Amino acid sequence: MTTKQVMIITGASRGIGAATARCAAARGYAVAVNFARDEGAAARVTSELTALGVEALAVRADVSRQDEVRRLFETVDAELGAVTVLVNNAGVVDRQCRVDAMDEERLLRMFSMNVVGSFLCAREAIRRMSTRYGGTGGCIVNVSSAAARLGSPGEYVDYAAAKGAIDTFTLGLAREVAAEGIRVNAVRPGIILTDIHASGGDPARAERLAPHLPMQRAGTADEVAEAIVWLASPAASYTTGAIVDVTGGR
Ligand code: NAP
Repeated sequence: MTTKQVMIITGASRGIGAATARCAAARGYAVAVNFARDEGAAARVTSELTALGVEALAVRADVSRQDEVRRLFETVDAELGAVTVLVNNAGVVDRQCRVDAMDEERLLRMFSMNVVGSFLCAREAIRRMSTRYGGTGGCIVNVSSAAARLGSPGEYVDYAAAKGAIDTFTLGLAREVAAEGIRVNAVRPGIILTDIHASGGDPARAERLAPHLPMQRAGTADEVAEAIVWLASPAASYTTGAIVDVTGGR
């Protein structure tokens, strides 16, 4: 790599975000490890990255808050340099329930975290990457979910609908900034072994569903990370507006 590659990964203290951080660091990226609550976990990830010989920085910011997103990008500007890749990975589910049991507070949280947060981060990235603003280009990779096309009935239709919005966001934004040096793509993971299932109140979900998947197993965070880092790399230079399923055939 000739110019310094700086990747901001939202929600990188655990799961798919942390795996993406390790995968990117192994390929020489300087990495900003964003997190919301667990400072210790983010610090452990950054120490692993620095041990690989790259620059790494943990930055606390709730991506659903505009002021915190601005501060995240300003901190990276100052400490690591111009961002070249944004991975919009931070995402949450709520307790499994039907739509007729969802209250307004939950719905607003679901959409502000999973959708508005990705828009806010993309806005800051575009202002730095776009040739329209004097930048030299870059890449955005959004983390959607197979839920966007399955709907997650009886579990979390709100989350699935938010991820549907991420798919549409990916297509629209990709075309909007394609002539400005920015590629925008998404990965759509299936059932992946991370803590997210426990946060939905169903820690054994991945193990329970695994035998029913076409490949008869859940995926790993590393398998999703490989797809994210490929989409961000020059090897994917003519790929934009693509949504890559990483679902074991689901
Ligand atoms: P996870 O293990 O639960 O990790 C979530 C990460 O997001 C944590 O690092 C968490 O940091 C961070 N986070 C939570 N709220 C945040 C906020 N407001 N601002 C910034 N960061 C925040 O989740 P995961 O399974 O790796 O999921 C990563 C992405 O993949 C999500 O977008 C998810 O929807 C998607 N996905 C996952 C699966 C799956 O089966 N695992 C399937 C399809 C799609 P703190 O703990 O520090 O708050």
